[in-house]
This record gives sequence, C-alpha cells and structure tokens, in this order.
Amino acid sequence: MKTLAAFMVMCSVALYAQQPSSQRTQAPGTDGKLNIIAFGAHPDDCDQRAGGTAAKYAALGHHVRFVAVTNGDAGHQTEGGGALAARRRAEAQEAGRRIGIEYVVLDNHDGELLPTLDARAQIIRQIRQWKADLVLAPRPNDYHPDHRYTGALVQDAAYMVVVPNVAPDTPALRKNPVFMYFEDRFQKPNPFTPDVALSIDDVIEKKLDMLDAHVSQVYEWLPWVDRKLEEVPRDPVARRRWLHETRAAQPTPAVRAALIKWYGAQRGDAVRNAEAFEICEYGARPDEAMIRMLFPFLPK
Ligand SMILES: [Zn+2]
Repeated sequence: MKTLAAFMVMCSVALYAQQPSSQRTQAPGTDGKLNIIAFGAHPDDCDQRAGGTAAKYAALGHHVRFVAVTNGDAGHQTEGGGALAARRRAEAQEAGRRIGIEYVVLDNHDGELLPTLDARAQIIRQIRQWKADLVLAPRPNDYHPDHRYTGALVQDAAYMVVVPNVAPDTPALRKNPVFMYFEDRFQKPNPFTPDVALSIDDVIEKKLDMLDAHVSQVYEWLPWVDRKLEEVPRDPVARRRWLHETRAAQPTPAVRAALIKWYGAQRGDAVRNAEAFEICEYGARPDEAMIRMLFPFLPK
C-alpha cells in the first residue's frame, strides 16, 4: 500500500507540474495582499460579473483566481465535448493572462452540474488552497441550472471550509472568509441587494479585453442564442469594437443608490460601468471597516 500511495503522490506531482501556470494549485504567498477567489459555472461567467473588479485587484498586486466549475463543453452550436472544453480552457487562460489573474477550469460537464458532495469538496479545496479572504459566486436564483447549483455549492462550502474533518486532504482554514454574491436581475424569491457597488469605468477596456478572449462565447455561441450571429463582424478589430458597443449597460437604480452611498452623490452619479456584490449570510459578516479593507479601491 505504501508503494501505491507513493506512486499516486508522484503521479499527482507530475500532473501538477505539467499544468500551465494559470492552472497551478499552490496558495498565494502571505505577502499582506488580499486573496480573492470567484466561482462561475462556465468559463466566462466570472468575467461577466467580476472582471472589472478583478482587474482593479490585479492592478494593486492582490491575488485573484477565477474558477469555472464546469468545463463549458456544451456551450456552442456546432462544437462540443472534449475539443470544445479544451478550446474554452485556453480562452479562459488567455482572459486571465490579459488582466494578470489565475483562471482554473474544473472538469465537470457543462449542463450537468449537480450539488453533490464531490462537487462541494472541489469547491472547499479551491477556497482553502487559495487561503481566500473573499469568495465571490452567483446567487442560487438564476435561469441556468449550472448557475443555480454553483451558487448552492459555494453556499454549502461556506463554513465547511473551517471544518478539518471535511475534505481532510486539504488543510482547513482557521477563519470563515467573507462570501459575496455577483449581481443578477432575478426578482424571486428576493431581488439582489447591492451591499457594495464599484465603479469599473477605469478598467472597462480591461474587462472587455477579457471577454474578447472568449471568442467561442461572445462572438459565436451567445450571438447564436440571441439570433444575432450575422451581426458579428468577422474582422477581429471590428468585432472588438462591436463588443464594446453592444455590452454597455447602465447601473440599475439600486446599484446607482449604492454607488452614491460609497462614492458620494457627484461621483456616484457619474459612474457609467459598475459591478456590485451582496453579502452572503453564511460567511463572515463584514462591517464597514472590513468592507473597506476588502475593497481597497473604494474612496476613503
Ligand atoms: Zn454561465
């Protein structure tokens, strides 16, 4: 048995060694910087909801990891399976490279995610390995089952990350991180509450650069779903401009009110591009000082 265990350790070391840097699994250093981890169901979900915020953290030298809980192998009208998963993994890693963050794609099938104990342990390990101060995820109310279950899985991982007997192969955290939800527009059973709203006007082009890396999605699959595929320019420069023009979205009235709370009336009113987050009740509950520590780009 000893020999088998040693062999398995060797195999896993070899596997990790072969992974590109954006798939590496060691924790960031304890250098006084924040460790942020965000979970999306698909490779591009985190980018849509928190790409601007991630770019702001990265610019200040904080450590950000995006995790796609599924490999995206169902998200295309003419491609699928392992070839599509490989294409989307490469797109995600390019997106991460463009703003200086890590991007991990877990190998669960797209469209088939369930809140199983195995999937929960995958999430717990990711949060622990990253020594996360802040965890971002979708709310469990959403049109897409993979999004719903990603929300449920991250909720289920909250608190469990500090329990040493759960997923004991990965050392437990000593304190529960802060967990927050991405913004969404769903109203039932309750609408999204923007506890924190951030201006991303200074990094909007960085966010669009990230999205531009997800060619299979933003220029192929999503326009096809919307029956607008013929509107997408073929030329890469023209389609990047098209992405900019079609992605502009004004903050909702609730997000606008939160922007004014955090930035003051004049600055808050002038923000054109925002990302917002709601505190999850199952993580550590941050007071205002803690929120300012976790979002160091908020004005003093
Ligand atoms: Zn998605």
